[in-house]
Amino acid sequence: MDSREQAAFDRAATMTERVYEHFKDVIAIDTSVPPGLNYDRFVDVVEPKFQALGFDTERVVIPDELIDGIPLPLEGPRVNLVATRTSPASNGEQVTIYAHMDVVPIEEGWNYDPFQATLDDGRIYGRGTADMKGAIASLLTAIEVMDAEGIDPAYDLIVCICTDEEIGGYPGIWHLAKEGYVKGHMLCLEGGQDPRIGLASAGAVDVTVTTIGRSGHSGMNFIAVNAIDGIIPVLNELYALKQVVEARESDVPGPAHPQAPSDKMTPMFNLSVINAGRKSNIVPSSCSLIINRRYIPDENFDDVVGEIREAIDRGMEKSVAEDVEVEVFHVYPAMRTAGLEGEHTRKMVESYKLVHGYSDDDFVASGGSGSTDMANVHQELGWNDIPFTGPGRMDSRAHGANEFVRMDDVIAHMKVLIHYLAF
Ligand SMILES: [Zn+2]
Repeated sequence: MDSREQAAFDRAATMTERVYEHFKDVIAIDTSVPPGLNYDRFVDVVEPKFQALGFDTERVVIPDELIDGIPLPLEGPRVNLVATRTSPASNGEQVTIYAHMDVVPIEEGWNYDPFQATLDDGRIYGRGTADMKGAIASLLTAIEVMDAEGIDPAYDLIVCICTDEEIGGYPGIWHLAKEGYVKGHMLCLEGGQDPRIGLASAGAVDVTVTTIGRSGHSGMNFIAVNAIDGIIPVLNELYALKQVVEARESDVPGPAHPQAPSDKMTPMFNLSVINAGRKSNIVPSSCSLIINRRYIPDENFDDVVGEIREAIDRGMEKSVAEDVEVEVFHVYPAMRTAGLEGEHTRKMVESYKLVHGYSDDDFVASGGSGSTDMANVHQELGWNDIPFTGPGRMDSRAHGANEFVRMDDVIAHMKVLIHYLAF
């Protein structure tokens, strides 16, 4: 190994207290979405950290009309941070380094304050430590290490800290890609330290179906129209469609799970939420159902929505409901990646081999079960060679109680970044 790189790695290993300070600062701001209320406060904390490292910064606020269609209770401005710094060693090559600042809401079962990073027995606990504010802390520290060692990155750095990844619809990075802020190639900090190569991500669509009836006294139900009765034939058609959809398979290998129906990626058709009725002696006047549909890259969005609409129409032919309303919320498109065909992905694999001692055989290449806003970048710019890295692991309980990262992995992530960006 290059002696300057060895010196940087040695220094990175001494930065545990420093990186923990950054963790505490980023975890302390409650950026749960919905509502995503504190994005501006989060940027207030992070922007000066990048400025202190010589970055120029710009706040890019998403115009309200672009998020109006999102069917969730959102509050506060959608403030994205773009921090840029050129490097004398870049030859004009650029990399856009992406992280999102929002986190999912907390739920029962925490043994730690989710909004206070807590180091306990080699692990840092807190909401967003793994997904994915912790990656911002390790990025900042990795840059500090390179600066202290006089190591210039091989790229001009464009850091995008973005909003609303956890809800989709119109995530900040899509807006930044549309507005020309995303340049060079994309390095996504949404990954982990496990040796994995993503070959695809799923698309996601929520469809809300509401049958409309007419309320009335349950003792005189012949003058009312029951919206729950009205949705039953629609549910039957949707349930039949679920069987058809879930029998499909992608040509992309799926996330290996012993209970998975296939070793390939498969679509998911979830009847997720149903709401109707207020009191047993009132005939309900509306019944709404939310379908959460996960689609594979072999399917396309228009067909996915089209077959759901057709099933609803078939059900409505047999329904007593007076009317039906259908709302479609496209959370994320699906994406296929270049995998190891991509030079940037290969470079990331080399970084992992160097830092962790992994061999080629250790890497598992598969499609993911989740969806990502990188699919919006792919759709907008055509990019499919997007390496992922981050300080978490598959077992980090992202979105769960007691989410954590290991301090060892945080240091490893810093080394991966140093190698990827400068060597
Ligand atoms: Zn995330």
